[in-house]
Amino acid sequence: MKPKIRDILLKSPSGKAEEWLARQKNIEWANGLNPRLAKESTVNEIGEKKHEDPDHFRDRFVGLRDSKAFVNFMESCTRCGICLDKCHFFISTGDVNNSPVGRANLVRKMYRKGNRLKASDIDLKKIYSYYYQCTECRRCSVFCPQGIDQAEITRNIRDILTEMGMVPDYVAATLAQVFKTGNNMGLNPMAIGSAVDFVKEEMKEETGKDIDIPLDKPKAEILLIPSSADIMVNNDTLKGYAKVMHALKKDWTISTATAEAANFGTFANERILRQFGDMVVEEAVKRGAKEVVWGECGHGWRTANNYVRYKLADHGIALQHVHQITDRAIERGQITVDRNKNDDLFNYHDPCNLARGGNLVNEPRKVLSAVVRETVEAEYTKDKTFCCGAGGGLLADEKEWNESRAWAGWPAVYYSWKTGANTMVSPCAIDKAQFPFVIGYHKVDLKMKGLMDLVGFAIEV
Ligand code: SF4
Ligand code: SF4
Repeated sequence: MKPKIRDILLKSPSGKAEEWLARQKNIEWANGLNPRLAKESTVNEIGEKKHEDPDHFRDRFVGLRDSKAFVNFMESCTRCGICLDKCHFFISTGDVNNSPVGRANLVRKMYRKGNRLKASDIDLKKIYSYYYQCTECRRCSVFCPQGIDQAEITRNIRDILTEMGMVPDYVAATLAQVFKTGNNMGLNPMAIGSAVDFVKEEMKEETGKDIDIPLDKPKAEILLIPSSADIMVNNDTLKGYAKVMHALKKDWTISTATAEAANFGTFANERILRQFGDMVVEEAVKRGAKEVVWGECGHGWRTANNYVRYKLADHGIALQHVHQITDRAIERGQITVDRNKNDDLFNYHDPCNLARGGNLVNEPRKVLSAVVRETVEAEYTKDKTFCCGAGGGLLADEKEWNESRAWAGWPAVYYSWKTGANTMVSPCAIDKAQFPFVIGYHKVDLKMKGLMDLVGFAIEV
């Protein structure tokens, strides 16, 4: 018989598993683990008002009955329990409320009351706590025989919570930065300019070639959307983009107004998601772009693929992921790569929102196989991939969260480590921040890289 998946917690080399598991037996999560709420001033900056008013929640919640999908998700659960141990939060905590079916039951109880639902029936604190312990990863939906998409329920509930100002400080502060600067890290054009100059100088030293990273060209055929983290932290990813564009002799630019592939609106509400998506469309039109190329960000690509794509199409502008361009260029022999430059055993981790919401599974694998010596697949891949444990706006650096996300991210790291690979590869800015932390916490001998980093190492320019 297969061991229970929760047993993998005991396989952590951290030596902390038993103590963690003992604590989970007693912890009252709804009291113990609430992401710090945003301050009123930050809520105002994102265009919402703080009013933790159960009557408001009640009215909006009852209105969700107009959504066929929501009604279907509420009505069709058979309580089979299959989804329970598919959720990394249930695996790491054993708390039924922190499972797909348990989380949904918190709102299903209110749903059953229909119009008789009273404000006093609503435990806002508990709802906030558990609906901000779902990373919107959609893993549960792949296994659910009824196809219930718990992440959609989470988005419905967060939509209401956000307009009440019940949004974590980390998420609200990130959104506020985008409203001010166009990127999550709050970088102004001068900061972006000097970071990019530094990366260009490094590429010159490494290759002896002048490889440009054009910023704010008034007109360009391609508008490339990097993660702001690529500019400031994950420089090897940025170099990968630049080298591919250079090798293909593309007319491209990055705009300092839209230097952000992420879209934290996905983790808050639909209004903000659309606003951020529209900022990219406006910028592409302004620069006369024929194509927008998206950088490495899981949920950002999902948003782009499902929303921005259609807005761009209204202006005759195409959308592609940087992996799609790279894959095609390798296949057609337009760029040359030397896989011996990445002489190691690599395991590709599918970011949730590429595999389960972004339809991007094959191209990254083809690119990886072309640029490294050897690859190995993990047990749970493609649409069954495990979440990193920090999506959905949970990357916050808060004491309680740090430990929680170290354990929530363990299944993904464990199964990658189990393959015997030396390096885990993930093309997602959140994964690039989360996995090194999880790997370090659990004392696992594994490196972590972005896919375009490896392309950058292997490409001949
Ligand atoms: S797998 Fe689907 S039907 Fe079964 S308990 Fe979970 S949500 Fe309900
Ligand atoms: S979407 Fe992911 S985090 Fe949310 S309940 Fe499902 S498996 Fe858990």
